[in-house]
Amino acid sequence: MDFLSFVEKKEEKKYEEVILCKFGEVILKGANRMNFESMLVKELRRRACPFGAFKIYVKQSTIYVEPLSPDCDMDGMYNVAKRVFGIIAVNRAAVCEKNIDAIREMAAIYLPDKLSGKRSFKVEAKRSDKKFPLTSPEISREIGGVILSKVRGIKVNVKEPDVVVTVEVRDEHAYIRAGQEPGAGGLPLRSAGRGLLLLSGGIDSPVAGCMMAKRGMEIEALHFESFPYTSERAHEKVMKLAEEMCEFCARIHVHVISLTHVQEEIRDRCNEDYFTLILRVFMMRLAERCAREYKCGALITGESLGQVASQTLAAIGVTDSVVDIPVFRPCIGMDKNEIVIEARRYGTFETSILPFEDCCTVFTPRHPKTQPKREDVMHEIEKLDFDALMEEAYSSMTTETKLVFPEYK
Ligand code: ATP
Ligand code: MG
Repeated sequence: MDFLSFVEKKEEKKYEEVILCKFGEVILKGANRMNFESMLVKELRRRACPFGAFKIYVKQSTIYVEPLSPDCDMDGMYNVAKRVFGIIAVNRAAVCEKNIDAIREMAAIYLPDKLSGKRSFKVEAKRSDKKFPLTSPEISREIGGVILSKVRGIKVNVKEPDVVVTVEVRDEHAYIRAGQEPGAGGLPLRSAGRGLLLLSGGIDSPVAGCMMAKRGMEIEALHFESFPYTSERAHEKVMKLAEEMCEFCARIHVHVISLTHVQEEIRDRCNEDYFTLILRVFMMRLAERCAREYKCGALITGESLGQVASQTLAAIGVTDSVVDIPVFRPCIGMDKNEIVIEARRYGTFETSILPFEDCCTVFTPRHPKTQPKREDVMHEIEKLDFDALMEEAYSSMTTETKLVFPEYK
């Protein structure tokens, strides 16, 4: 770096900035709270890797993410922090000394950029150090004055401000920020065991997986395909969905099982009205076996009550009854448009709507049973060599691992 650009760089960086993350439900975790906090810190450390060296620690119910060198990618780190479950709000703050002159000076440097173009603001001051010589309202007034003198056209609005400027006087430093954004919420990844997601190429199942990851589950995925009835492109689509889910779920092992022979046997031997239900029995049983092998305590599906014939109460009753493991269906009470909103938020929607076939959509019955009885479905299944087909399908399983970035461990 030549001397001039060195000076420019120094000139540019007039303040030190940190990322502050607020805990969500973790704060309700009584004696276990420390465990949850350290899981969250660990996850942030793992995810920080591509963005430079950061010091990440908990203090006073906040996670501090401090860059250790000027070339840390703060924008990248900030965006990642928004996708880490367990964090309810994220902000960037300027750090300064704990005296009102330094706070005023920092506000004059840091805030004009952040507030330009905004119509109104209010200042909220918080003092966890009660020995600080000014009260919170006094700090607010001081900093409000600085903003009014530095930002043209902006007004104070305490009821509905465009931006809330916060000044926090903490144990060691003061922090100034303009606004904050919601985090991903929920509980830290891996704090609630592991679940096996039945992942199709549709809209619902990726959302279901992300919703359970939000409640702290590590997600493992199982996809069924039926080559050549389903194509290589359908396979790629599902792999892409799993990769996209990793933005939130971090790491997903995707198991793939071929149902080609199972489906051909069902087509050739069973009553058409039951095709989908029989297929779903195979899916659930294979998923249960996979869950046991990979130590998953629950299955997760994207089913939503009444969405299609195989998701009526009676049909779900049948598919539920063939396994002996909890089945989580987080979308069960959601409308399609609500699921779509979540799919957009998790970033899977655009891939989900690519028009490739799923094994559930090949050999679909013209008149599927909507009020099936378990014994009738089982009667149809007796026409097949169920155990041999299960073995053959399970032994076709292959596994690919998807990661949020290649070095994620
Ligand atoms: P959408 O309803 O948006 O088309 P979906 O993923 O919900 O997508 P459905 O046919 O409604 O598709 O299937 C219900 C559930 O069954 C899915 O949410 C998924 O959990 C599971 N499922 C369906 N097809 C497959 C598949 N090929 N591999 C794994 N799981 C599947
Ligand atoms: Mg669905």
